[in-house]
Amino acid sequence: MNKDEHASKKASNLEKTLKALTVRREIPAFTIIFLILIFIGGSILTTAAGRSQELIMIEGKPLPVSTFAGVFSTLGNMCVIFMVVYYKKLGFITSMILLATQVPGFYINVFRNGNYTSIPGMFTGLLTVIACIIIFLNNRKIENYQKRINDQAVTDRLTGLPNRFAVSELIKKLIKQGRKFAVVTININNFKSINETMGMDTGNLVLIEATSRWKNLANSGETGTSDFISRVAGDEFSLVIRGYQSENELMRTIGFYASALEERITADDCDFYITASFGAAEYPTDADSYDILISCSVAAMTEIKRAKNSEHIARFRPEMLKVEHTLEIEREIRAALENDTIFFNLQPQYDMTHKLRGFETLARMKSADGKPISPGEFIPVAEKVGLIDKLDSTVFRKSAEFFGELVRKTGADITLSVNVSVRHLMKNGFLEELRDIIQMTGIPTNQLEIEITESIMIDSYEKALNCISEVKKMGIKIAIDDFGTGYSSLSYLHKFPADLLKVDKSFIDQMNQGESSKRYVASIISIGHIMGFDVISEGVEEPDQLETLRSIGCDYIQGFIWGRPLPKEEAEKLVEMKSA
Ligand code: C2E
Ligand code: CA
Ligand code: CA
Repeated sequence: MNKDEHASKKASNLEKTLKALTVRREIPAFTIIFLILIFIGGSILTTAAGRSQELIMIEGKPLPVSTFAGVFSTLGNMCVIFMVVYYKKLGFITSMILLATQVPGFYINVFRNGNYTSIPGMFTGLLTVIACIIIFLNNRKIENYQKRINDQAVTDRLTGLPNRFAVSELIKKLIKQGRKFAVVTININNFKSINETMGMDTGNLVLIEATSRWKNLANSGETGTSDFISRVAGDEFSLVIRGYQSENELMRTIGFYASALEERITADDCDFYITASFGAAEYPTDADSYDILISCSVAAMTEIKRAKNSEHIARFRPEMLKVEHTLEIEREIRAALENDTIFFNLQPQYDMTHKLRGFETLARMKSADGKPISPGEFIPVAEKVGLIDKLDSTVFRKSAEFFGELVRKTGADITLSVNVSVRHLMKNGFLEELRDIIQMTGIPTNQLEIEITESIMIDSYEKALNCISEVKKMGIKIAIDDFGTGYSSLSYLHKFPADLLKVDKSFIDQMNQGESSKRYVASIISIGHIMGFDVISEGVEEPDQLETLRSIGCDYIQGFIWGRPLPKEEAEKLVEMKSA
């Protein structure tokens, strides 16, 4: 450890850091010397002017120089008052000494020399002393009051630890200094159950005991690092660690805080054995701003708490933020399902003459604050946490209801394509659900298509095949979605009872970038045709892509060039217009 770090370690116990956070009036030290010099100069001039018998002429009238003595003495007195105001105790002592040095002069003048003209000056000096004492005492009162207010603003009442404001100020200050430090978010495990079973008062006693152990540890210097512990909310704490050299040293320090809880805590005659979860993030390695640094340490703490194993300390890793985000999306999906706010858009599909083939229904969702969340984000989460079947069914049901009505109204010969995730399709009740939807919505089965991703042919071919055959028997069409992105074998494809191949957008994007890419798409289309499927290209955006697809025999297209996903009302208008 270098000299610099030693110094910072010494200076950084809790009290010192807190003191540094309180507002102080800063005045340069040299000003007091300046004020002393003016005082001395003023005194000399006062004496000199007082003794002078000379006259000066102002506008032809004589004025005794001695009358200026009062001006110089007031100047000196002002200096001592400034000192008391701005330099507190030091200023008060200095001013008292300076005023005392005048006493012998007055004494000699009045009592020895019989010069009674000094008597008014003596009274002025006395009044100045009284003014200084009053200002000094008043200042002290205000300062004590200010200190109390400052302490309250940065201290947690229950535990006496610095609070959230104090730690946030400290972290922001450290970030400005730019030196390495760690923030550890600490959360007491199962604290809620102590509160619920034993009551808040007992819970508070447990908190007070735990924090007093941590406070002692931080102040003792036993950890070998410079630590600042604070309470940010309920059972959540924040520990700032500085002065460590390695990751091991950091972990060792956190270990001290974890071990401090090992011994039982007795509160209200009950014994408690508590543990806490610790999540550590480091500046600037993990984050270089306050908010992200805190999020990182909270994410690490949440992860280790969720793991529910014997480990209680986690060091932040970038993938932990993803976990946080996933959780957030999961909460949004659950809320949307519960509040029935999932809705759908319909993206038109056309044949090459621009005749409407139908629509693909695409799930849409908004977060609680009204911002749309992309399906690219929420569909994978719904799949991961097992909510996809509920989500699929909702979209399916709602769009089939709308589409059934639309077809009855317009008599349009168009198809509704619905995405069904593999997981959903493999569920036992899928076929019943399908029959139920068809019956409820009255959608003609020959105008319904189910899109399944190519992955079904890789993971669950045999099992899926039975289900798909049943679906086919109902007259429903089958589309293979995102074709080309998986690695399904041609022999599987050959046996698969599909109607439509959907060429993935990634191939269409590259198609016009080289002859071989174009030939690749052309061969996918040919294979599709050989197997007896129609082929639709997804994500067509440019006229040259459309031209190429025409020239290589593609049957249908779906893309922004002819239609973005539309709200149902606009899709309805489109159908009415086309069938008019
Ligand atoms: P997908 O099934 O491949 O759907 C096509 C996606 O490509 C849609 O994105 C659509 O908006 C987008 N797209 C279509 N044409 C163009 C184009 O010309 N340019 C560009 N840049 N994009 C185009 P979206 O709506 O974001 O959906 C993303 C994926 O989410 C879908 O890909 C699908 O896999 C999944 N998804 C959407 N709704 C559902 C659903 O209800 N159930 C299930 N299981 N998955 C769904
Ligand atoms: Ca699709
Ligand atoms: Ca697709």
